Amino acid sequence: MTVLEQGNITIHTENIFPIIKKSLYSAHEIFLRELISNAVDAIEKLKMVSYAGEVSGEVDEPEIVLSIDKEKGTLSVSDNGIGMTAEEVKKYINQVAFSSAEEFVQKYQGGADQSIIGHFGLGFYSSFIVASQVEIDTLSYKEGAEAVHWKCDGSPKFELADSQREGRGTTITLTLQEEEKEYLEPARIKQLVNTYCDFMPVPIKMDGEVVNRQKALWRESPQDLTDEDYLEFYRYMYPFQDDPLLWVHLKTDYPFLINGILYFPKLKPDVDVTRSYLKLFCNRVFVSDNCEEILPKFLLPMRGVIDSPDIPLNVSRSALQMNRTVRKIADFIAKKVADRLNEQYKENRQDYINSWKDLGTFVKFGCLNDDKFKKYVEDIVIYRTTDEPAVQTDGDREDAWQDKSPVADPQGNAYTTLNEYLERNKERHENRVFYCTEPAAQATYVELHKSQGLEVLYLDSFIDTHFISFLERDRSEVKFSRVDAELDDSLLKDEKEAEVVDPQTNKTRSEQIKELFEKALNKPQVNIRTESLKSDDPQSTPPAMVLLPEAMRRLRDMTALIQQETAQFPDEHILVVNTAHPLIQNLADLARGSIVTTEGSSPSQDMANLICNHVYDLALMAHKSFDARTMKQFVDRSNQLLTRLTK
Ligand code: ADP
Repeated sequence: MTVLEQGNITIHTENIFPIIKKSLYSAHEIFLRELISNAVDAIEKLKMVSYAGEVSGEVDEPEIVLSIDKEKGTLSVSDNGIGMTAEEVKKYINQVAFSSAEEFVQKYQGGADQSIIGHFGLGFYSSFIVASQVEIDTLSYKEGAEAVHWKCDGSPKFELADSQREGRGTTITLTLQEEEKEYLEPARIKQLVNTYCDFMPVPIKMDGEVVNRQKALWRESPQDLTDEDYLEFYRYMYPFQDDPLLWVHLKTDYPFLINGILYFPKLKPDVDVTRSYLKLFCNRVFVSDNCEEILPKFLLPMRGVIDSPDIPLNVSRSALQMNRTVRKIADFIAKKVADRLNEQYKENRQDYINSWKDLGTFVKFGCLNDDKFKKYVEDIVIYRTTDEPAVQTDGDREDAWQDKSPVADPQGNAYTTLNEYLERNKERHENRVFYCTEPAAQATYVELHKSQGLEVLYLDSFIDTHFISFLERDRSEVKFSRVDAELDDSLLKDEKEAEVVDPQTNKTRSEQIKELFEKALNKPQVNIRTESLKSDDPQSTPPAMVLLPEAMRRLRDMTALIQQETAQFPDEHILVVNTAHPLIQNLADLARGSIVTTEGSSPSQDMANLICNHVYDLALMAHKSFDARTMKQFVDRSNQLLTRLTK
């Protein structure tokens, strides 16, 4: 080997590599991504000059080979690309590469922001982060070019010599520093290739085996892809996860270049909605999987890939968030997602409904957070309803959607939009919505509404508490009342039976009942009211129910929210006693009998007291769970009553 030249790299800062090493903390591994990116570039450049007819002889199948020599402590990256002449090495490596190294140091020295996403495009010199010596062995494609060998230990001194290399291309060999020996482990290198270089368009080989996937699905044209392609890609990127519900293929080159595929996952209860699961790429090179900044907040749980060279990667996270292009990209993504949801709603309503449990969370979050997004999706927000689903006409599903009747999911739950609901119920209660937040607890109330033909919407997901307030602001003409807030007039009988005056006591029957309950319960905070509930079968209506007026309940919920507590059931509430129910009528008779026959306490009066308390407890159960003491009281009383019954 003949040394051709020894010299000093034109560099103005001594010892730049220790500084770079320190400022990159744990990101040392990115050197491999940078070297492989250079190798891919070199291969693509060769392809281009070959198309231009400037290459003599055959161009080999492109490949990048990684090899490890544990004994020598070296790792090398070899490509069969364009190569470099001695002049080019001097120019590109000694000057270009090192001046960008200096630039890096100037930028980041003295408290560089560590929250930078990419550390991207650090380039060739990043190899000095892990290597004590770097060698380049290269042969240019140019006619008559001679192979050269360059060597440098990170100091400004370099040595350029001739080389025995015969094949076109470049091999970069790193002699690893003592503390960077992990990069001599094939498993570690494979893992890095899989992370950063999986989708680079050139086969990367280790021990003869190709270790990268190459095909980047997001770069392909959506028309050429099947559902199975998208699903297969998702399973590859997110193994051991449920299949996604829906995906959006992003593709635009104006006003910014972006390619990507976003998937709506099934939402697990443990999903962290503050972190992103998206993988950010730049020209097929993996950059980061925590880039919350580029997605609108409400889409954070979405998964998939975004590939854009227009996202600035070497700026701090806060600068990234403020960046105009990034904000435009976020808006673009929101619009595309909304378009896709609208398309699914129109063209595949059944799937849309089937996935609504998960999709709805995104959509509602989006409405709460982003006014523009709200406008895109407001007409496709749907609600589970008590109304009967439309009967689908055979073979022609479109019919079912057109008559504005709710459509059912596989469990038979019907869904409707708010406008459809209002339209359907216009005659009976214009601009009024009845809703239920806890189907199990509020079952009695829902049934009561249903039995009178009143339609109830379920707003029972965790986000709905906020969503109801949002709806009220957004649709101020509509009044929303929870099923247990008030009894609509249409639920009540207009009959005067309860108003018949008892000559003995000079009180109406309903007054007697009210008094009976007041005495038995002895709770001044409970406002007791008598009503006669309408029903064909009074036995099927509840004998009593607890109401929490809408305004009062909201105030309580809000206070709890501010104090970060769960809302307590308030001592003040309304107990509606249903005078139409046979139990209440019998109870009235029982109590009345006791008044006639005896003075003071009597067995039947005791019994009436017990029953009043029992009826009250049963009504309370819809609203709160019992503590140990009240539960014991309830069980004891039940047993006492049953004992009396069996006497
Ligand atoms: P960048 O790739 O961003 O230009 P680098 O510092 O990584 O910066 O590389 C500087 C230059 O060195 C490249 O532009 C290229 O001309 C040359 N180079 C680096 N690696 C190779 C390689 N494997 N084959 C051919 N040329 C290379």
